[in-house]
Amino acid sequence: MNELNAQQRQELHQELLKLRIELQKLLADSDDGARPVSLDEPIGRLSRMDAMQQQSMVQANRRTAQTRLNRLESALRRHENDEYGLCASCEEEISYARLKARPEAPFCIDCQSNKETRGG
Ligand SMILES: [Zn+2]
Repeated sequence: MNELNAQQRQELHQELLKLRIELQKLLADSDDGARPVSLDEPIGRLSRMDAMQQQSMVQANRRTAQTRLNRLESALRRHENDEYGLCASCEEEISYARLKARPEAPFCIDCQSNKETRGG
């Protein structure tokens, strides 16, 4: 039995809130970079290529951040419903070590690796 104790739950909750702020900030900060590169801008061809490359990196980062933010939000909801720390698939408890590394993890390590193996 490795049920989270009150202190661990509290700690992970703080971690979720902190990560949510960081990701929201990252998404807000990268807002400009994700805008389409304007063709009217008086920059050379090479600079435009750079800008577009830069932009697609920013967009990829934003997608990752947005996905993680969604997971954080649902982890926070589970927290409110006292379901936090339970695997969303098999309802077994997720280990503290795993939650410490990824507080937003919705699945236990077994279900997660099953999903990855199946390609979902
Ligand atoms: Zn599971």
